[in-house]
Amino acid sequence: LCNGKPLPDQLARLTAVLLPARMAGGIRTRTARFLGVMAIFTLVNGGVLSFIGLQYGAVAPDARGVVATTLWIVFFALLFVSGVAAWLLVLALESRRVAEEETARQTGMLMEEIEAHERTDAALQKAKEVAEAANVAKSRYIIGISHEIRTPLNAIFGYAQLLERDTSIRNPDGVRVIRRSAEHLSNLVDGLLDISKIESGLLRLTRDKVRLVEFLDQIVDMFRLQAAAKGIQFHYDRPAYLPAFVHTDQKRLRQILINLLSNALKYTAQGHATLRVRYRSQVAEFEVSDTGFGILPEDMERIFEPFERGRTASARAVPGTGLGLTITRLLTRIMGGEITVASTPGQGSVFTVRLLLSEAQSGPDDPPAAKTIHGYAGPRLRVLVADDDPDHLALIQNLLRPLDFLLFTARDGRECVELARECRPDLALLDISMPRMTGWEAAAALRDLDMPRLKIMMVSANAHDYTPGRAAAGGEEDAPSVHDAFIVKPVDMDVLLDRIGTLLGLEWLYAPAAPAPAALPDTAPATAKPHLEALWQLGRIGHVRGIENKLRELEG
Ligand code: ADP
Repeated sequence: LCNGKPLPDQLARLTAVLLPARMAGGIRTRTARFLGVMAIFTLVNGGVLSFIGLQYGAVAPDARGVVATTLWIVFFALLFVSGVAAWLLVLALESRRVAEEETARQTGMLMEEIEAHERTDAALQKAKEVAEAANVAKSRYIIGISHEIRTPLNAIFGYAQLLERDTSIRNPDGVRVIRRSAEHLSNLVDGLLDISKIESGLLRLTRDKVRLVEFLDQIVDMFRLQAAAKGIQFHYDRPAYLPAFVHTDQKRLRQILINLLSNALKYTAQGHATLRVRYRSQVAEFEVSDTGFGILPEDMERIFEPFERGRTASARAVPGTGLGLTITRLLTRIMGGEITVASTPGQGSVFTVRLLLSEAQSGPDDPPAAKTIHGYAGPRLRVLVADDDPDHLALIQNLLRPLDFLLFTARDGRECVELARECRPDLALLDISMPRMTGWEAAAALRDLDMPRLKIMMVSANAHDYTPGRAAAGGEEDAPSVHDAFIVKPVDMDVLLDRIGTLLGLEWLYAPAAPAPAALPDTAPATAKPHLEALWQLGRIGHVRGIENKLRELEG
């Protein structure tokens, strides 16, 4: 009858046919189930009671009527009880099924959501990697192109300055425009190079031991003079205690302070500028305040973005590239510090830089107090310099010859090796990219000349040329290196002398302390003295732009 299928299912199909179509499927299924369960109960009850009736009928045929009546009563009672039980059972089964279905549905939805999140995460990660790669590529591209632009730009800038001095020139205004534009462009290229180097992670911080008090005094001296020249007062407020030595990247800290102090003077027409220094728990706070034009509230964040400048009319009138604060903030951040600004338009601004400058103990590695090297103890040493750039050759000659080194110069790698055979130098300074034979090849050839005492220092304009332990062009990575030291152009003279001293084991002889500004030559006219002092201070801290501006001002 059931055609091999479970009875409740068969009944469900039957009720589906019998019940009106408009009754919902849920009710139909429920009724079918109920009927199915009832049918089973009824069959079981009926079967058991019929069996009992038959048994009694066989044993006591007289009581058959009474037994039948009793069994019918029991049957209907059981039918009623079974009905209730079946209905409860159906409802329980159904609510369990509904709960299970709901749980499965929710789980399914959750799984889908998790998968969607995973897909979004993967897409975001990929987009981030692509963006980072593009950013690094952009920075490298800018670095490459900036180097290319800088060389011809320097030539334009240099010749424009020469032409400006030429009184016979027919269009002096045009030359001035060329000079100013070249200057603006070279500032821009320098700024872009700095930003790209920081962003692409090429900028490596050094951990110098800095004489903090002297370092700050030098900067303050310079800006005091600049402020005086502009008719602005300059205040320096430092705590009674400052550590004698701190660890930091001296060049970058100087760049940060020079940028902020230059801005304070640049954007202040009258009043004063102040550098306030605080030092507590290894944290230094440099506060640069001024009574200048101030910054509009809506510009406060924008001015730290590249090429963005303040929108006050007075600030707009001052020329600038809009890169100084970007570089300052990037440098502050990579040094682990923070920079904040507060300003009231028309009243002035306060820039505050907080940096961790851990105090350093005095020891044998103390940086020398500002002393001038004027020679070395012991016999005269021979130095061979090879470079195809005549300016660089002249620079090294001018530095080393007065210190009593015997100098030999070569314009390319081959000439250098030939000269070395004759002069047998103690030290060779080799530029890496030279015509005919690279610095690396020349260094390898020098190593074959049987000069055990020879020290070789590689010099390159490109820090990427440096491969630690490099043997020679194409040499084995683990072969002994052909060079003893590496230095990057533009050469920092103090660093160069320091390296030479270490390589050759020299004991430097120092000149008596540099003359105080007051002791400038008496022959100088009194009117020249403040200017000489200003130039001297600028030279001491190596602020090249400051020197250029000062010279231009003098020329004017
Ligand atoms: P630049 O000075 O070459 O324009 P910066 O990045 O150093 O570039 O400064 C961005 C802008 O922030 C400046 O153009 C100026 O409007 C504003 N600014 C910076 N420092 C000061 C200051 N001390 N007072 C007023 N405005 C300032």
